[in-house]
Amino acid sequence: MNSCVSVDEVSLLLHLECPECGTLHQASVINTVCVNPACRSTLFARYDLHGGLNKNILTGRPASMWRYKEFLPVINEKNIVTLGEGFTPIIPLENLKTTAPDNKVYWKDESGNPTGSFKARGISAAVSKAKELGINALAIPTAGNAGGALAAYAARAGIRAIVYMPVLTPKVFKDECLLYGAQLVEIDGSISDCGKLVNEHALLNDWFQLSTLKEPYRLEGKKTMGYEIAEQFNWQLPDVIFYPTGGGTGLIGIWKAFDEMEQLGWIGSKRPRMVAVQSVSCDGIVKAYHAGESSSSFVDGGFTIANGLRVPKPYADKLILKVLSESKGYALSITDAQMQNGVKELALREGMLIAPEGAALWQGFKQLKALNWIKPDETVLLINTGTGYKYLENIMIG
Ligand SMILES: *Cc1c(COP(=O)(O)O)cnc(C)c1O
Ligand SMILES: [Zn+2]
Repeated sequence: MNSCVSVDEVSLLLHLECPECGTLHQASVINTVCVNPACRSTLFARYDLHGGLNKNILTGRPASMWRYKEFLPVINEKNIVTLGEGFTPIIPLENLKTTAPDNKVYWKDESGNPTGSFKARGISAAVSKAKELGINALAIPTAGNAGGALAAYAARAGIRAIVYMPVLTPKVFKDECLLYGAQLVEIDGSISDCGKLVNEHALLNDWFQLSTLKEPYRLEGKKTMGYEIAEQFNWQLPDVIFYPTGGGTGLIGIWKAFDEMEQLGWIGSKRPRMVAVQSVSCDGIVKAYHAGESSSSFVDGGFTIANGLRVPKPYADKLILKVLSESKGYALSITDAQMQNGVKELALREGMLIAPEGAALWQGFKQLKALNWIKPDETVLLINTGTGYKYLENIMIG
């Protein structure tokens, strides 16, 4: 790099900051979590948001998450590894709107992303930044979708990918990794067991780890959902947002995006109530939320058809719980049978074949509507995080 400011420099990234202890970290070098041993928190990328950028910069930009490139961490546009992820549609309920006639209910449908889930967003950002930092091998523990996304984006970037996945994950998630040329390691256990092994093996082999919220940039990719929600709702945020919470990246990211946009002057201070929906199999956040605790315990009740929700202890549990409490949100859990019914109901009535994780939100929405926690006239957004097509072998059983 020469000393001239290149026209390719598109990001307003300043540095990384620990949201717990405030320690700043240089963004020009490889980072994992906060260096403070008492903390080890996920790091937040911070941008220069006071330059008076007007939101009309977005006019005419491509319909992908990179339309928000100033607020993404890739400095040089040439390093962006993209397959067209993001800017997914907002779809109102049609036949099922009779379920809640006095509400406006929408899906943000992430199923059309490359590799079929919103994991594409985080992985596009993280692989792009890894490329910029000169990293040449990326390892990941995954419940399925993140592995497929990493395999695809790594193939695109010419970077090696090593994917650790529970053996009980449906075959399609494994096959896609192999097709994209990743090295697949099947583990007899949960994503937590995969995480432990990635930790050990990454150290031995000098691979960089992309475990959820143990590196700073997947969060940045997923936060673009927050920017899109604001833009697509014409800068008036919905009253309630439902999010299927595994590691919590999207929940934390959307909340971060709202703060950034308020600093930019793009939205006001009004925020949605954020609802975390989990599987009864891994409901540590739900338990902690209702006990009024600020961190969660390890809970692993075994297999769930919603692979993305089998996260026994999210690394960023404190940050998830903080969002729920700041937003005056809620947390609840859903059974596999309820998710299966939800997938079938949405397919039959709305023509949408959603992931079980998305179906969990639909069931959660109906519960909170029945409890009158959702009030008449409120606008509600459900985030369908992935396509149901990859889960069919588990949906069609029972
Ligand atoms: C990973 C995943 C989730 C959970 O996302 P987090 O950001 O880790 O909470 C939800 N749904 C699907 C389809 C996923 O792949
Ligand atoms: Zn810290």
